[in-house]
This record gives sequence, C-alpha cells and structure tokens, in this order.
Amino acid sequence: MNIIVLVKQVPDTAEVKINRETNTLIRDGVPSIINPFDMYAIEEALRLREKHGGKVTAVTMGPPQAAEALKQAVAMGVDDAVLLSDRAFAGADTWATSYALAAGIRKIGTFDLVIAGKQAIDGDTAQVGPETADMLDIPFVAYIRKIEQVEGKKMVAERLMDEGYDVVETTLPALITVVKEINEPRLPSLKGKMKAKNLTVTAWNAKDINADDARIGLKGSPTQVVRIFPPAPRGNREMLSGSIDEQVGTVAKNLKGQSLI
Ligand SMILES: Cc1cc2nc3c(=O)[nH]c(=O)nc-3n(C[C@H](O)[C@H](O)[C@H](O)COP(=O)(O)OP(=O)(O)OC[C@H]3O[C@@H](n4cnc5c(N)ncnc54)[C@H](O)[C@@H]3O)c2cc1C
Repeated sequence: MNIIVLVKQVPDTAEVKINRETNTLIRDGVPSIINPFDMYAIEEALRLREKHGGKVTAVTMGPPQAAEALKQAVAMGVDDAVLLSDRAFAGADTWATSYALAAGIRKIGTFDLVIAGKQAIDGDTAQVGPETADMLDIPFVAYIRKIEQVEGKKMVAERLMDEGYDVVETTLPALITVVKEINEPRLPSLKGKMKAKNLTVTAWNAKDINADDARIGLKGSPTQVVRIFPPAPRGNREMLSGSIDEQVGTVAKNLKGQSLI
C-alpha cells in the first residue's frame, strides 16, 4: 500500500498570539510540534504498511522550518518526506493550502490512501482533509476511529459519531481523517532518529508541483481574515451545588426570573 500522510507543524501552545496588523499567527519564539491529530495519522499509516507492505510518505506545506516536523515523522518510521515550501504559498487559506497539497500529492504519484488528522489545533477548521480529497477527486471519510479491513481497492472502517459509530465502506484511493481513538502513536526509534538526523528532506516549490500562480498563497485564497480576537470573558457565573434536582430547580427559577421560559 502506498500511503501519504498529511502532517502540519503547529505552535506548541494553547495561547496562540496574533499579529494585529497582518491577522496572522506569530510563530517566532514559539516551539513547534506535529499537530497532535497527525501523530495518529502517522501511526495508522505505519501499522497499515506493517500489515500490507508498501511505503509511507509524509507531506507538509509550510515554511522551511516545517522540515523538522517531517524529520520527526521519519524518526517514527515514515519512509519518505516532502516539504512544499515557497514564499508564494504564504497567506494561504485552507482552500489554497489544499490546492498545494493536492498538487504535491499528484507529483508524488500513485497512492492508495491519504491520511490526515481530523483537524489542526491552531487553524482548527477541519477543512483541509475534505478539500484536498475534492481536489484529488477521490472519496473522503472523516473521523475514522478504526480501519477494519483493506482488501484490494476496498476499505471498511469505523467512523466516530456523536453517539456510537458508523461502519463505512469506500473504494481506494481515498482520503480519510482520523480521531485520537484510532491508536496510540509510537515513540521514535533510535534507528529512526539516526535516519532523520542524516536526512535531507525533499523540498518542492510552486513550480516543482506545477501550481497555478492564481491558486496558491494569498492570491488563491477566497477567504480573508478581517479580524481576529480572543473571545470576551463571559459575565457573571454561578456555581450550583446540591442534588441534580435542586440544581435543575435553581436553573429553572433563574430562567423564569429572566423571562426566558
Ligand atoms: C480565512 C483564513 C485565512 C488564513 N490566512 C492565513 C494567512 O494569511 N497566513 C497564514 O499563515 N495562515 C492563514 N490561515 C491559516 C491556514 O490557512 C491554515 O492554517 C491552513 O490552511 C490549515 O488549516 P487548518 O489549520 O484549519 O487545518 P485543518 O483543516 O483543521 O487540518 C486538518 C488536517 O489537514 C492536514 N493539514 C492542514 N494543514 C496542512 C499543511 N499545511 N500541510 C500538511 N497537512 C496539513 C493535517 O493532517 C491536519 O490534521 C488562514 C486560515 C483561514 C481559515
């Protein structure tokens, strides 16, 4: 099986700082990590390779320092890594990001499965997986918590739902996003760390992936960030105590008092 994993480098902080003038993330001085959900994607790709053979390639679009995330993926056992990096990619929204990723994947060649995390912990949109699948014109299944079976050009998997799960069947190649319930990511091995240390990550620019200038970076982004702000702190809070019945009674009384019920 040839598997491609989408890996995003994100700031290792819950308190993301914003540049008020450009409305972009301030990444300087903030340590970076692999998006946690992508660790599950890497682990699942490695498990599938162990079972079915083949190759796992990690791909990221980002600044040159995103190569570090790819090296970490290689240390975990990924065979190959591709960095899509070009100043022309800067300012990309999810649509332009997905366009670049799809173009990079096409250049890599034939594949059976693309695995991404369910969402990135900084951008948080969960749009890149489905958009990339659409641009590659392949089926997309979100929130995979278990891959039950892969046979030929068919895959059966469990998709996590609010209550329970669905069993879904898809043809391959397909793109799936995974949730943390799917596995327990492994630690990098010593052999993997050595390989990563000596690795020169393959880097492709916009021209290398035949990208249309009008569809990448700020120019290719149909959405623009107008304003970013932290949510205002909520007003008065009241902690309720007592039994559930007493607490429900208090809530009902308060809502009635405000003529809300
Ligand atoms: C309206 C808008 C404007 C933006 N403008 C800017 C801007 O001007 N400058 C800027 O720096 N950022 C900007 N961003 C952020 C940037 O577009 C997103 O960080 C990026 O497109 C990924 O989206 P996300 O973080 O929501 O990922 P999600 O869609 O939540 O990620 C889901 C999964 O997709 C994969 N994935 C996501 N991004 C990548 C990637 N880059 N490489 C490989 N795999 C990936 C990962 O597997 C991840 O788990 C903007 C975002 C929006 C919504």
